[in-house]
Amino acid sequence: MAFEGLMVSVSGVRGRVGHALTPEVVAQFAAAFGAFSLARSTSRTVVVGRDSRVSGPMFHRAVCAALQSVGADVLDIGMAPTPTVQLAVEHAHAAGGLAITASHNPIEWNALKFIGSSGLFLDATEGAAMRAFLDGVIPRATWDALGVVREDDAAIARHLDAVLALPHLDVPGIRQRKFRVALDTCHGAGSRIMPQLLDALGCEVHVINAEPHGRFHRPPEPVAENLGELEALVRSTGAAVGFATDPDVDRLAVVGDAGTAIGEDWTLALAADLVVSRTPGIVVTNLSTSRILDDVASRHGGRVERAPVGEVNVAVKMRSVGAVIGGEGNGGVILPDLHLGRDAPLAAALILQLLHVRGGTVSAIVHSYPQYRIVKDKLDRPDASLDSVYAALRAGFPDAVVDTQDGLRLTWEDRWVHVRPSGTEPIVRVIAEGPTEADAKELVRRCRTPLDALAKG
Ligand code: MG
Repeated sequence: MAFEGLMVSVSGVRGRVGHALTPEVVAQFAAAFGAFSLARSTSRTVVVGRDSRVSGPMFHRAVCAALQSVGADVLDIGMAPTPTVQLAVEHAHAAGGLAITASHNPIEWNALKFIGSSGLFLDATEGAAMRAFLDGVIPRATWDALGVVREDDAAIARHLDAVLALPHLDVPGIRQRKFRVALDTCHGAGSRIMPQLLDALGCEVHVINAEPHGRFHRPPEPVAENLGELEALVRSTGAAVGFATDPDVDRLAVVGDAGTAIGEDWTLALAADLVVSRTPGIVVTNLSTSRILDDVASRHGGRVERAPVGEVNVAVKMRSVGAVIGGEGNGGVILPDLHLGRDAPLAAALILQLLHVRGGTVSAIVHSYPQYRIVKDKLDRPDASLDSVYAALRAGFPDAVVDTQDGLRLTWEDRWVHVRPSGTEPIVRVIAEGPTEADAKELVRRCRTPLDALAKG
């Protein structure tokens, strides 16, 4: 079945509200997901949660009706972070979960994220099997077999309790520090868990954009250029740290004590600094994440393994190699002790514990490591295969370590470049990192040469 204008990825589907994304389309995907989930599980329960978007309640009703129509019982946890939905799936031993959220995308978007019975997002095989239901006849229930809807308003409290019970945290110790923390939840679901978490950790909390009404007045992606208000709040309050979450609370960005955003790659680096120092082991991240993580891991006797881009790829690799921590350079931190999903409350708690045990500031910790600069570029995807580009780059950089899991990544001692076709857009991404911006730009420039030649045909 074709859906004009929808962005369909491995574990989700998103579109602009009122354009590609309508209740009919959402209901079709939700029914397919429900049928897929029930066919693979002894449970008949599907967990449903949503972020704060204005279109959320409308799509929530469509999702619940669609799930009931295939005989799935809905466990409705209401407005909640995506990681809370994932934890609720595990807690309820459910057949799956649906998070109604377009994550960090602007206000005009909404989306569904598909969560399997293990609490992980669907992988490529599962996603294809789910979408096959869209192409066939979705089995609907008759009147006597319709699903029921139950509400569960304790999911967020359980998530909070699970974070606070982690062995990595010394909660009484953090409480004694009385950290002053600035917080920006971007009118998202984070306002349901982040202030409560920081309060439980004894912090003096200064919060902006707290009301979860979903009317984002700035781009909701927690990247440095969108965090000016939080930077100002850190400076005006003299906070030790500022935290920003995206609308569905799986990504955390950090503003340091100097009042500047330190870059999303540092969220996982700081969390890993704590966890690997306690339990030296493997850190898993994707091929486009900063090599600062390699420096952090090796300082504490650990090492990094890399997975293709995509949260589920990182989560699956973490499970297979027994990683102690993992995540992505976009502020997504995953701790297997909690669950295999990106989790912003978790990341904030680990960073406060790091500040507690190290006794220093965010800036001092950041500056104890080498500094790198990342440069990102993108271009239209050529019609022709990229294989000739990869071959030319491997020949042009014979001294690099080669990784072909996801496009081509070339790695040296202190720099790397990653060329990969996007999974959701008709573009090729080129990302490079080096000790200086000039180094990174030079790597991007050299990779663009064969790509531009291919595009010109
Ligand atoms: Mg998100």
